[in-house]
Amino acid sequence: MANRYCYYCGMMHAEEMMRVITVRNGRRWRCIRSIEAAKKSVKERDAFGREVSAFNEEMSATVKNRRACFD
Ligand SMILES: [Zn+2]
Repeated sequence: MANRYCYYCGMMHAEEMMRVITVRNGRRWRCIRSIEAAKKSVKERDAFGREVSAFNEEMSATVKNRRACFD
């Protein structure tokens, strides 16, 4: 079984776990697991970002309402 050097993990993986990625200076092998993990973390970060901005909007609305009561 052929092993390939994964530039992402810095170690060898079995070739069937690898994909060739085109980068600026050529082509590199990267394992599917790290590609999937990166995709997932981007999705999670986006979801988290949306949640935080919704929360911030809600908070600023609450603060404005509170100020209105004090005026
Ligand atoms: Zn890898």
